[in-house]
Amino acid sequence: MNNDGLQRIKAAGLKLTPQRRAVYEVMMQLRHATVEDIIEGVQSRNKEVTVSTIYRILDSFCSANILSFIYHPDTGKCYFDITVAEHHHLFDGQSIEDYADPELSQLIREYLERKHLPTDEIGKIQVQVTLKKNV
Ligand SMILES: [Zn+2]
Repeated sequence: MNNDGLQRIKAAGLKLTPQRRAVYEVMMQLRHATVEDIIEGVQSRNKEVTVSTIYRILDSFCSANILSFIYHPDTGKCYFDITVAEHHHLFDGQSIEDYADPELSQLIREYLERKHLPTDEIGKIQVQVTLKKNV
């Protein structure tokens, strides 16, 4: 496991149990994954980790900002995301690609700031781009 992930789990005050390590390692590999993908990945390493344990770990990882959560507009499925920093997504069929574009985020942030939304500060901005290819 890379140190960054290890640090994030420790910083959240969570003990690095073998189960948590397995979930995090599977996420490092898959980057974006449905709960089913994660269960399959974790149980292929260790059959003894139960589904409810995996759900509990995913919950605690999301609360601790170790994982984020995205929705695929085409498949209607939800995915856990190893990247928690602000980033955008390109959806190409079933696949999900991270799309880092700080300029786009800044553009939207400045635009929205002029709109005087009922908030003190604009939080995370996430753009979802669905790619359509003509066949
Ligand atoms: Zn992502």
